[in-house]
Amino acid sequence: MTPAPVKPPSKPLTGPQKALRKLGLVRDIDLALHLPLRYEDQTRIVRLSDVREGDLAQIEGVVSACQIQLSGRRQLLVTLDDGSDTCTLRFFAFYPSQQRALAVGQKIRARGEIRGGLLGWQMMHPAFQAAGGELATTLTPIYPTVAGLPQAYLRRAIQSALARADLTVTVLPEHLYQIGLQPRWSLREALLFLHYPRPDVALGTLEDHSHPAWQRLKAEELLAQQLSQLQAKRERAQLHAPVLMAGSGPGKSHPLQQQLLATLPFQLTGAQRRVCEEITQDLARPVPMHRLLQGDVGSGKTVVAALAAAVCIDAGWQCALMAPTEILAQQHFAKLVGWLEPLGVQTAWLTGSQKTKERRQMLALIASGAAGLVVGTHAVIQDKVQFKNLALAVIDEQHRFGVAQRLALRSKLVEEQQEPHLLMMTATPIPRTLAMSYYADLDLSTLDELPPGRTPVVTKLVNDARRAEVIERISTQLAQGRQVYWVCPLIEESEALDLTNATETHAQLSAALQGSARHGSAALRVGLLHSRMPVAEKKAVMVEFTSGQMGVLVSTTVIEVGVDVPNASLMVIEHAERFGLSQLHQLRGRVGRGAAASACVLLYATGDAPRLGETARARLKAMSETNDGFEIARRDLELRGPGEFLGARQSGAALLRFADLATDTALLEWARRLAPLMLDQHPALAEEHMQRWLGGKAEFLKA
Ligand code: ADP
Ligand code: MG
Repeated sequence: MTPAPVKPPSKPLTGPQKALRKLGLVRDIDLALHLPLRYEDQTRIVRLSDVREGDLAQIEGVVSACQIQLSGRRQLLVTLDDGSDTCTLRFFAFYPSQQRALAVGQKIRARGEIRGGLLGWQMMHPAFQAAGGELATTLTPIYPTVAGLPQAYLRRAIQSALARADLTVTVLPEHLYQIGLQPRWSLREALLFLHYPRPDVALGTLEDHSHPAWQRLKAEELLAQQLSQLQAKRERAQLHAPVLMAGSGPGKSHPLQQQLLATLPFQLTGAQRRVCEEITQDLARPVPMHRLLQGDVGSGKTVVAALAAAVCIDAGWQCALMAPTEILAQQHFAKLVGWLEPLGVQTAWLTGSQKTKERRQMLALIASGAAGLVVGTHAVIQDKVQFKNLALAVIDEQHRFGVAQRLALRSKLVEEQQEPHLLMMTATPIPRTLAMSYYADLDLSTLDELPPGRTPVVTKLVNDARRAEVIERISTQLAQGRQVYWVCPLIEESEALDLTNATETHAQLSAALQGSARHGSAALRVGLLHSRMPVAEKKAVMVEFTSGQMGVLVSTTVIEVGVDVPNASLMVIEHAERFGLSQLHQLRGRVGRGAAASACVLLYATGDAPRLGETARARLKAMSETNDGFEIARRDLELRGPGEFLGARQSGAALLRFADLATDTALLEWARRLAPLMLDQHPALAEEHMQRWLGGKAEFLKA
C-alpha cells in the first residue's frame, strides 16, 4: 500500500477538502470508488444540422453576432454558426473578458444542452473555450457532489487518486477465476472504465450496472463481505464454550429434556424435533453455538428454547432467556416456570421495573448458581448481573435487540476464554439472499411447520367507514366465548396522540359492546393496554385477558411480539396503513393459535386523500394475499430494501454500495464459494481485500 502522505500538522483544511471528508472520501481507494452519476460526451463535435432537442452536445463554429440585450432581462446573446446551422448562446451573467472572448469572428467550442424554440437552436450558459482544442478520448464523468465541492476539483482529486491508488494487484490469483462466472476484468480496468468509459459504450449497461466493469466491482464488494463474515465465523470457532451434555457422557440422552418432553401437553412437530436435534448437537461441542432459529409466528419456538435450556441446566450450567418487552418476558417466564419448576429447576426473574428487594434476591440466586434459568428483559445483560456459570443465552425476537446488546450478552464470560452458547430466535424469516450475505456467519435453523390443528387466519381489508360492522362482528365473537384484540397504531410524532387514539377507541368499544350486551357477562369487559401504563397495571390487564376474564383488549403495539392467548380469534388493526408489513404479520400472528377459525381485520383510513399511497396499498395487499411469513418477508424486502429490513443489525455497518441482493444472486453465490478458498490459500490477499473494501467497518459486520 502507498504510505499515507505526510500532512503538515496545523494546516487547516480548505473548503473542498472538508467537503471531501464529509463525503467520506479520505483514502485513495475511497475516491477511486466514488463513481460517476452520469457522463458527458466531449469526445466529438456535433454538427448543428444533426442535433436534436435535449441533446447534450458539443458544437464548434464562428461567432457571427454578439450583442447585449437590454430589453427584458439583461443578457449576452451570441450567435454561433458552424456552417450547417446556427445556435444562440445566452448568458445572463458575464464578465467583460468573456464578452471579448465571444466577439464576432472568434472561433469557439461550446458545450451544453440543446434547446429548440422559435429563434432556432439555443444553449443556456454553455461552457465554452476557444475552438480547436484536443477532444476528450473518453466520456467525461459527472460525480455526485455536495455544495462547496466543485465538479472540476472532485474530478482532479479522483483522477490523481486513481493514479496513486493501489489497484494494480490482481486481487484474485488466476486459478481462482476459474470458479464460476467472474468477469475477466481487473479491478483497475473496471474502475478506470467506469470513471472514463469509451465513447462507444452502451450507456444503458452502465446505468443498469450490467456492464462487465460493474459486475466486477459488485463481485469484489460481495467477496469482501463474504470474507469478513466467514472470518468472523472462523474466529468464533477458535473460542471455547462449555460442552453441554447430560452427565452420562456422549451419545446418551438428556434426562431433564426427556422429562420435559414427557410432561408437555403436546407432541413436537417434525420441524421442532429436527431443530432441537441441531441445537443439541451444537451444545455438545466445545465451541460457542451461534445459531438463529427462524420460525413463523406461532410455530412454537418457545418450547424449543425450553428444551435447549433443559440440556444446559441438566449439565449443571445456567441458561438466560432475554425478551424485548416486559410483557413478553413475563409470559415466557410464566410458561417456562410452568414447564420446568415441577421438574425441580429453580428460576429467576429480572426486569428494569423490579422492586429493589426482589431484585436483590434474584441477583443472589443468579450469583450463587441456585437459579438454573434466568428470564428477563434487557436487565439480564446489565453489569450488576453476575452469573455463576452462564452457558447458554437465548434471545427472543432478536431483531429487536441491537448489536451492542448481543455483544454484551456474549461478554458475560463464564470463565477465562469461555463464551456462552447463543441461540437467537426470530419470527421474521430472513430471505435467502440476506441469509447468504448478512447472516452468513450464523447457522440457521428453520421451523417450517406449524403445530397441527391450526386454521389459517382469514384477512380482510375494511375501510374505516365500516367500523360499525366490525364492532358488530366483535360481539358475535364474544357471544361465542372468544376473545378479541384491537390494536391502535403508534403515532411517532406524538405519544400523547397515540394514547388519545387508543383511549377513544377503548371508550367507543366499551360503550358499544355494553349496549349490545344482553347478559352482563364478564367476558364483555374491554381492557386497555398502552406503553405508558405502570408495569403492575399492564401485568394485571394481561393476566385478566390471558385468563379469559376480559373479552377485548384494546392496545397500542405493545402486544406486537410473542403474546400467546390461544382463545383469541379476532384481531382488528386500526389504521393498518400506518404499520410496516412485518409488524402487521406479527400482529396477525396473535390469532389463529387455537383450533377456532380466526380472522384479522385491517381497518384502513385514507384520510384526506382519495386513496391510499402506493406502498401502503402494496403492504395491505400482501397481507390479504398470504399468511406465509417467508413470502411476507420477501415482499417486505422488496418494499423496504435491505437497509431498513436489517434494522438494528446494520446500524452503522457497511451496507452494500454497489451490489443489489435482489438482482445479483449469481455474483453472491460466486463470492460465497470463493471466500473459503481465498481465506485458506491466500490469507494475505484476503486481508488486503477486506481492508480495501470495508476499512474499519468489518468489526461491525461480525457482531
Ligand atoms: P412462537 O414461535 O411464535 O414463539 P410459541 O412458542 O408462542 O410460538 O407457540 C405458540 C403456541 O403453540 C403456544 O401456545 C405453544 O404452547 C403451542 N405449541 C408449540 N408447539 C406445539 C406443538 N408441537 N403442538 C401443539 N402446540 C404447540
Ligand atoms: Mg415467540
